[in-house]
Amino acid sequence: MITIPHAYGFQLVASKTPLRTCELPALQPGPDEVVVEVAGCGICHTDVGFAFDSVPTRHHLPLILGHEISGRVVDAGESASTWLGCSVIVPAVIPCGNCPACRAGRSTVCRRQFMPGNDGNGGFATHVLVPARGLCAVPEPLPQGLTLDMLSVVADAVTTPFEAIRRSCLGADDVAVIVGVGGVGAFAVQIAAARGAAVVAIDVDRERLELVSLHGAGLVLDATSMDLKSMKAAVRAFTKESARNGIGLKIFEMSGTPAGQTTAFGLLDHGAYLAVVGFTPKAIELRFSNLMAFDATARGNWGCPPEQYPAALRLVLEGKVSLTPYVEFHALDEAPAILEAVANHSIRRRAILQPKRQQQNHTSEAAR
Ligand SMILES: [Zn+2]
Ligand SMILES: [Zn+2]
Repeated sequence: MITIPHAYGFQLVASKTPLRTCELPALQPGPDEVVVEVAGCGICHTDVGFAFDSVPTRHHLPLILGHEISGRVVDAGESASTWLGCSVIVPAVIPCGNCPACRAGRSTVCRRQFMPGNDGNGGFATHVLVPARGLCAVPEPLPQGLTLDMLSVVADAVTTPFEAIRRSCLGADDVAVIVGVGGVGAFAVQIAAARGAAVVAIDVDRERLELVSLHGAGLVLDATSMDLKSMKAAVRAFTKESARNGIGLKIFEMSGTPAGQTTAFGLLDHGAYLAVVGFTPKAIELRFSNLMAFDATARGNWGCPPEQYPAALRLVLEGKVSLTPYVEFHALDEAPAILEAVANHSIRRRAILQPKRQQQNHTSEAAR
């Protein structure tokens, strides 16, 4: 065990209260565990749910949130010593590896999984203690323009849509419709385009739509000025123009809003596939029988199995998925204000907390 000078983080003490800074307990890795010095930790909608919407964490509070972590392994247990010194991405969901679900290849439904910032302390911290199992090695040196802290968003915002798209078997003959092109959906657009699909993006935010039209979307639809019928017609015309012969649309709900879910379900056509990636605790009303009438498939995914991380990371390293337009950086010490800014939507991009970044003296632009 090494001694880490001044290891600290920001914990949630109670829902609807600001995060509070805390010293980390001594980080002693077990035989199969490692201590990661955090380079960056992305802030996810799920963190906002824990902090502001009373979504309960599986580990009792107080708890350090954050499950989109990249960093360097600075300490390792005896069975994990080969990781020492390596740069890594920590999967958002780390399966146990030997329960019936894991052995059946369904590791995302492992009931003994570990999610940093939910089952134990997470990455809004200088260091985090995690299982070594499933770590994704980051090859160095990184291509120009990419940094280890930036790659934190691969841990969830990139891999979760990657897995949804992989499961849909989306290919070059398909039209993909991405509903909600914020922090997660914008990466889905690029992943779908990298697989050769023609991509439609739907959102209520003009700026987001403009950005994704530069990064993979062939058609963007502003849901604030269109009803479902006109969206359907536009998608149909685009499908015809793009000459894709795939059977049925592949629709990906990434907004996590009742309106987005209603739109996504409403776009189902014959043989369609609907992937549910966004989360909202709110219910919607829908005609469930449409699945039967259209011979359609609806499916969700809880994260992404660690074995798929290297392939998702490769898309980023090869420049097929660009992160830069969609991320912004903030000092870890600003975590309470930044989480609040994400919650009230005054931050537009995926916010990444950096322990090594100096805190700004002034109130951050976004948090104002
Ligand atoms: Zn997340
Ligand atoms: Zn398991």
